[in-house]
Amino acid sequence: MQFSIPATSENLERALRVSQAVNRVRQLPTVFVANPLLAVFVALVFWDRAPHDFLTITVGAMLVLLTPAFLSWRRLRKRPRPTDVSPGNERRAIIFSFFLGAIWGTFAWVLYPLGGTDERTMMTILAVGLTGGSVAFFSSSPVASIAFFLPTMAPLFARIVEFDTTEMRVLPASVAVFLLTSLFFTRTAWDQFVETVRILVQRDEALIAAQASGHQLEVALSRMQDLAMVDELTGLKNRRAFFDDAEPAIAAARRRKLPVSVALMDLDFFKDINDTYGHAVGDLVLKEVAHRITATLREEQIVGRFGGEEFVALLPDTTPAQALVAVERVRRAVGAALIAVPGGGPELRVTLSGGIAPLGEVDDLEEVIDQADKAMYRAKGLGRDRVEVFGI
Ligand code: GH3
Ligand code: MG
Ligand code: MG
Repeated sequence: MQFSIPATSENLERALRVSQAVNRVRQLPTVFVANPLLAVFVALVFWDRAPHDFLTITVGAMLVLLTPAFLSWRRLRKRPRPTDVSPGNERRAIIFSFFLGAIWGTFAWVLYPLGGTDERTMMTILAVGLTGGSVAFFSSSPVASIAFFLPTMAPLFARIVEFDTTEMRVLPASVAVFLLTSLFFTRTAWDQFVETVRILVQRDEALIAAQASGHQLEVALSRMQDLAMVDELTGLKNRRAFFDDAEPAIAAARRRKLPVSVALMDLDFFKDINDTYGHAVGDLVLKEVAHRITATLREEQIVGRFGGEEFVALLPDTTPAQALVAVERVRRAVGAALIAVPGGGPELRVTLSGGIAPLGEVDDLEEVIDQADKAMYRAKGLGRDRVEVFGI
């Protein structure tokens, strides 16, 4: 009989192994206190009947065997609960219980013939008690229980059968029944424990999976939000995002009584570029122009793509005269250098016309944009590739 760990999942197996190991460490003090005390007690009882060498060596052997157990308990007891325990951990527990059982078996084998009825009864009860203890101690591992039981009880049984003519003879059978019953009940308790751990592990796994899919949802949502705010071609703010960001910037400037200007920029004869080189080349030009605009303006200036080849900028803390300087710089940055089309395409020159209007007496953004639009159309009318200020 092996209380094997059902391998339904790696996590469950790990959780159960950790639990076995933690319980063993927790119960170790009982082992290394009870065993030497009982061994000393037995040695004292048999002190006048048995060779002293044998008694001291056996008690000494027990102390030697228990020392590593004591040390590892001291090392492990303050540690936080481990997350993983090697499968070798249980194997070491089995070997340890076998040698401890063997020491008790040696005691029983040698001392049983030397005692009277009282001492024999004591030895038998002691061995039965220790075996019961081992069942409780190794409640998750019947192999370890039996590894203790066999070397302890087998010599004792042999001696009982050999020496006893009293009712003591039925003891081997009773103890075997006792042990099997104990194993049966610990098995039931273990199964219930496994079920509890299985539920906990499954809950944890479900939680982790839910968190992961929640994270995916978040990423998708934020991408959707980005798509709603960002113009895909140029990466600039779209019309909605421009207004969203402009409002608080205007409010802040107003609080600090700072001037704000709005600029509208439209590419000149852009339709011709599309018609001559195709829409794809037109797109590349738009991208490059957007890049030149943002690279030229200051960071706090809010730039959006307003329509096809039309851009808008909000310039906080900027008078129309200062805005004219800034947008002139943009105009030159766009028009000065040729735009290379990758893949051996043409090198293009594109210019823009700009219009500027201040937020002031009129403080409705849409209306001010209209005024900037009017100024821009004046620039178009005056021959393009220039910037005009509304009202001047
Ligand atoms: P103007 O100097 O008067 O502004 O002349 P224009 O040719 O630029 O005239 P208009 O502003 O009316 O033309 C805009 C053109 O921009 C029309 C359309 O083909 C093109 N366009 C709009 N959106 C896009 C786009 O996303 N990609 C490309 N490649 N072209 C676009
Ligand atoms: Mg145009
Ligand atoms: Mg246009």
